[in-house]
Amino acid sequence: MEETMILGMLENIGALDFNGHYRLASPNPKTRQPVHSNAYIDVRAALSDPAIMQEIGDEAMIQVFMTQEASEKEAFAKTDIVVGFGNAGPILSHVIAESLRVVRCAAEIMGEDLQWQKVYAEHKTRNVWCVRGQDGKFGFPEKIPSFARLVKPGMTAVIVDDLLTSGGCLRDAVELLESLGVTVLAAIIVVSRNSELTAADCNLPLLFKLSSVDESLIKVWDEDKCPLCASQEPMRPGIAHNDEFLDANPNYPKLQD
Ligand SMILES: [Zn+2]
Repeated sequence: MEETMILGMLENIGALDFNGHYRLASPNPKTRQPVHSNAYIDVRAALSDPAIMQEIGDEAMIQVFMTQEASEKEAFAKTDIVVGFGNAGPILSHVIAESLRVVRCAAEIMGEDLQWQKVYAEHKTRNVWCVRGQDGKFGFPEKIPSFARLVKPGMTAVIVDDLLTSGGCLRDAVELLESLGVTVLAAIIVVSRNSELTAADCNLPLLFKLSSVDESLIKVWDEDKCPLCASQEPMRPGIAHNDEFLDANPNYPKLQD
């Protein structure tokens, strides 16, 4: 895959850091231990930047429609719902749904595929998002009951998420949608930090990674083996899952602005 502009744009707004000390959200899947890292990638910091969101939508459009066979392009053009997750869900799901609409409406972009694009120009792709409930499982926001009415068995969905680490979020999302009778066509990931994870690992037919960080820059350790902890490398409060560590270790040095 060719490198995209997305990483450069994220770096410019300080959403990528490879020189810090962070506790990550997902535990080590093998040891179940909390994980620390020198690297933090916060795609959510880009949610307030329309130029980056536009670039994400454009890159998704290019990957989905330039790299796929005609039958798959047609399936994507007829996507019923784009599903996002958590805090990034509302904006990312909108951005991807809008890209699908633009592809259908702007047939000249794709040249040779004019026929099916014209056929599906009137198709409506809606976007919804899920949040984790008290039980840790994904569901639609309780305060938006129209989402549950909108999503019906037999629909097709594309999932979008900001960051790919262990793939746990994607597997949970597929489980939710399949339980509702929805067929998931693919997942679109804004930033991947796991080059080995495949679509099959996430129970998905296709997995599009819009950008991938250089994993040689990223180190991860189980919390009890973290060399940054051993050297008392300060940790910044209020970011990643650092506060869980700092609350449990109140005397640990904190990074101050
Ligand atoms: Zn540490």
